[in-house]
Amino acid sequence: MSDYILVLDEGTTSTRALLFAADGIPVASAQEPLTQHYPQSGWVEHDPREIWDKSIACAQAVIAKAGGAAGIACIGITNQRETVVAWDKVTGEPLTNAIVWQDRRTEPFCSSLRDGGHEGEVQRRTGLLLDPYFSGTKMRWMIDNVPEVRAAAQRGTLALGTVESWLTFKLTGGAAHITDASNASRTLLMGLEDGQFDDGLCDLLGVPLAALPGVVDMAGPLAMTDPSLFGCSIPITGLAGDQQAATIGQACLAPGQTKATYGTGAFVLTCQGAAIPRSTHRLLGTVLTQIEGARTYAIEGSVFVAGSLVQWLRDSLGIVEVASQTEELARSIPDSGGVVIVPALSGLGAPHWQAEARGVIAGLSFSSGKAQLARAALEAMAHQTHDLATAFAADGAAWQTLRIDGGMAANDWMAQDLADMLGITVERPGFVETTALGAAMLAATGAGIYPDLGAAAEAMRGDLTRFTPQLAAGVREARLATWRKALAAT
Ligand code: ADP
Repeated sequence: MSDYILVLDEGTTSTRALLFAADGIPVASAQEPLTQHYPQSGWVEHDPREIWDKSIACAQAVIAKAGGAAGIACIGITNQRETVVAWDKVTGEPLTNAIVWQDRRTEPFCSSLRDGGHEGEVQRRTGLLLDPYFSGTKMRWMIDNVPEVRAAAQRGTLALGTVESWLTFKLTGGAAHITDASNASRTLLMGLEDGQFDDGLCDLLGVPLAALPGVVDMAGPLAMTDPSLFGCSIPITGLAGDQQAATIGQACLAPGQTKATYGTGAFVLTCQGAAIPRSTHRLLGTVLTQIEGARTYAIEGSVFVAGSLVQWLRDSLGIVEVASQTEELARSIPDSGGVVIVPALSGLGAPHWQAEARGVIAGLSFSSGKAQLARAALEAMAHQTHDLATAFAADGAAWQTLRIDGGMAANDWMAQDLADMLGITVERPGFVETTALGAAMLAATGAGIYPDLGAAAEAMRGDLTRFTPQLAAGVREARLATWRKALAAT
């Protein structure tokens, strides 16, 4: 009997395969780190072959634990969004390295589009801003700068897509070149109203429509795997960008419900239901779900640097050996001693959108040491989230509670600091891999195990830990004032 749901979770720093039982209990997992390539300042690349090889190895490892492919009911895929892969449809081989979402190389092109007065129209149609973060300008960069990509475009064999599209192509033995509506909504090429890639937007960005995948639902009978991969063919029934998957995994399915994921970056999404978000505070409008052609939307704020700041403390400064040590360091002192970190190491995302901004450490004194820096790094998460909360409220989407997840959410000190600085209850599920869980909910719904996402969430979601605000308002205000001063210095 087919009992298990297999999820491929393609993160920025690792690729994972997880096996879930139909009640949402994870029963097996496998993980491989992904090599990060930094060819120039502000550039970040992945090798698409490595993504595929490690995905298939992880999938095969957990399928073996399930006793073979016959035990797998369906597959859900969730991925780092906005990362672009270019490959040849005929050979199935990548044509260049993937340009990762964090990569800033297309800022000159974005700025020329902004100078051309296109941002208002692009924002109205796509919900996005003209920032290098989104995939469309990365696709154009590849066509302009990589001869192999340009040649494939001229031959008519170029395939462009985000990571779920690349994996689906490979998993189906080249039969499917598809992308789901959530990933498509991050390209700058899809209109939020009709959910299809748009001729006019493709022309504006210089991306050939013919090289783009077909936009499909996020749950349903989407594709079948090539039988030679796992011994038999398995249906792919769920696809979603990682932040949409996490929002679904946190059961934020009713308007106003909000989640924040703290991984490499931090991503806050508030469900808006069927209403297309119209931000006037530099937040994004994005597809949250699309099932049987019906879409719901979310308003989103993306912060580029979250856990990667902790990684930087560990790898570049050597302040901690493992990320979790930041918690004991933060607890070892009563406050940061005036040290404030603005983690603009790769520019500032929402709601500031300053691609050229760079990080600041302010308030250093001779009493500042490892503990103060670690605490200031964790405090920066609440400061950045507070700026988002202000923008969301101004857009009419104030948060009542915040559901958190991601690798960094395991840090209890940070979770309490978030509650303290936001002045609202913060909830954390026992199982913080909500991205994978959301992909499992989509896949289970798409396979007909549950009638809809609400029923899947009801059956598959576990217990919560709650953090309630305890900090005095005066202390909070003082901290925010020093944060704003440091922010201005970037
Ligand atoms: P992604 O999916 O973006 O690859 P994860 O959700 O796996 O990222 O989160 C990993 C990030 O979280 C790393 O950048 C790491 O530095 C940070 N992190 C993990 N555990 C902790 C912790 N206990 N305290 C602070 N940061 C942490």
